[in-house]
Amino acid sequence: MDTTSDVVVVGAGPTGLMLATELALAGLRCRLLERRADQPNVTRAFAVHARTLELLDARGIADELVPRGVPVRQVQPAPGALIDLRALDSRYPMILIAPQSGTETVLEERARALGVEIVRGAGVAALRQEADRVVVDLADGTAETAAYVVGCDGAHSTVRDLVGIDFEGRQYETHIMLADVRLTEPPEEAMFASTGAKGAVIVVPFGDGWFRAIAWDRLREQAPLHDPLPMDEMRDAFVRIAGTDFGMSEQRWSSRFLSERRQARRYRAGRVFLAGDAAHVHSPLGGQGMNTGIGDAMNLGWKLAAAVQGWAPPDLLDTYETERHAVGRQVLVLTDAFNRLVLGRSAVVRAIQPRILRLLLRFGPARRLLVGRLTGTGIAYPGGRGDHSWVGHRAPDVVCREGRLAELLRAGRFVLVDTTGRDVTLGGSPHVVTARADAVRGEPAVLLMRPDGYVAWASDDPAVAVAEVSAAVARWCGPVPAPVR
Ligand SMILES: Cc1cc2nc3c(=O)[nH]c(=O)nc-3n(C[C@H](O)[C@H](O)[C@H](O)COP(=O)(O)OP(=O)(O)OC[C@H]3O[C@@H](n4cnc5c(N)ncnc54)[C@H](O)[C@@H]3O)c2cc1C
Repeated sequence: MDTTSDVVVVGAGPTGLMLATELALAGLRCRLLERRADQPNVTRAFAVHARTLELLDARGIADELVPRGVPVRQVQPAPGALIDLRALDSRYPMILIAPQSGTETVLEERARALGVEIVRGAGVAALRQEADRVVVDLADGTAETAAYVVGCDGAHSTVRDLVGIDFEGRQYETHIMLADVRLTEPPEEAMFASTGAKGAVIVVPFGDGWFRAIAWDRLREQAPLHDPLPMDEMRDAFVRIAGTDFGMSEQRWSSRFLSERRQARRYRAGRVFLAGDAAHVHSPLGGQGMNTGIGDAMNLGWKLAAAVQGWAPPDLLDTYETERHAVGRQVLVLTDAFNRLVLGRSAVVRAIQPRILRLLLRFGPARRLLVGRLTGTGIAYPGGRGDHSWVGHRAPDVVCREGRLAELLRAGRFVLVDTTGRDVTLGGSPHVVTARADAVRGEPAVLLMRPDGYVAWASDDPAVAVAEVSAAVARWCGPVPAPVR
């Protein structure tokens, strides 16, 4: 096949950067095309959730990101309603407050170190699909060819338009006010949130003396988006909604923003895929967008690599849409519920909103569901009939003789954890790292992890036959070579 690369990724936001690192880690030739010449992506996201940190840990990136941020261990969305993240069964029981630009810097450094070619000033203008490749035309008249193209080009995705995928949904009515400010009397909490009948405000520290202030103000919910946003307006919104402006003293940037709730009808059209904001956009309440985009990238990267390298089981590429469209839909439902609860038009809902939040968070199953959705630790993919109950779920960070499970995943391959003491990994596949661990009550005897940190297969039987393990590996990674004796 005559191509300039295996995969062209369009858009160097967090989703495109993460996907490009995944592809390069798997050994693919990847070009990352970015329309912006050099200016950084404006910092929109600041909340990096626990599951994203676990995924980044499985690539050795979390340790670089965590020191750049401020950990938040508790969130109080309304008086008496507390989300205590310290109870989370994760290496990262927190929301990490880190500016999106910093996350992108860390991802870009990793992408470059792995050999990704990042082409700036390269806006995609057209594309056409041929039998075995995609030709991408750039605005400057040059062209790129690849076996696959992934549109990570944001909410107004050109790629999505070019392949004719509908972006279904609607716009929210309430305008959001954003500003980066200095505070002379910052809140005690690392993340301050206050909601009520007059609107909602959030303040988070960037860790460098600047704070991001966000306000949904009922008085100004229809202010024209292009109207400048002076600091006095933000100050006034804070005083009315939260009772204080925390001593706002200086403003370096501000903007008004209108969020939408939309999802691409499909995530795949032939050799073209969509990921990140190109596939789904939602209310920023809950801080889900960038986290979901990074999750999309982790899910798609190894599957594309398997397809390009020729070892993908049939239909593996289609599982990207089945798995991630469902996650995207859940995120839309969650953020829409937050939006209705906090900013909805119903005066009744707004009045009883603190009580609803308190009740939800006191009731164990509801709290676990909410925290699982918010932090991403509850994300799971459906298993097949007769599969072990762990299939499709994340797994504990098992300590193996060769290292922690997350460390073993850093090769970007499957990991087979064997606790049987009998070496059931004989005749392993080149796509699988094998590890030995002590048996732990309640955990499977043998565990096969996908490269993206979800369980592919498991068995509770310490006497499981080697042939059964090999068959499971072969189902995911193609034929397993015969053992060398
Ligand atoms: C106020 C606010 C707060 C938010 N807070 C959070 C949060 O706390 N946590 C969270 O997870 N998410 C948050 N989000 C959402 C988050 O910012 C986005 O989900 C995230 O930026 C999406 O990343 P992406 O890489 O998919 O798209 P983008 O970041 O939009 O990147 C797309 C890239 O594609 C490039 N591009 C576009 N068209 C072309 C083309 N034709 N050719 C080449 N390149 C192109 C663009 O220049 C851009 O660099 C927030 C959003 C807002 C508005």
